Amino acid sequence: MLSGEWSAAYAVVRPPGHHVGRNGRALMAPTQGFCIFNNVAVGAVYAIEQGINRVAILDIDVHHGNGTQEIFYEDPRSYT
Ligand SMILES: [Zn+2]
Repeated sequence: MLSGEWSAAYAVVRPPGHHVGRNGRALMAPTQGFCIFNNVAVGAVYAIEQGINRVAILDIDVHHGNGTQEIFYEDPRSYT
């Protein structure tokens, strides 16, 4: 994708790490839900910083990805 060889790509990431916020536990949650790194956020931010204009995160876990929300909610580059 970054080399320009493809115009679109997707990644299936498990675990997404969606309970990890900016500093660990997100939005005052009592735990990180066994997540160590917010893998989906790391990948999305990396793609954005490499010049990818549009990145979508589709989280189909059964509950709220509070860490991903915390990371991107006030990011002016994102539309939540
Ligand atoms: Zn979860």
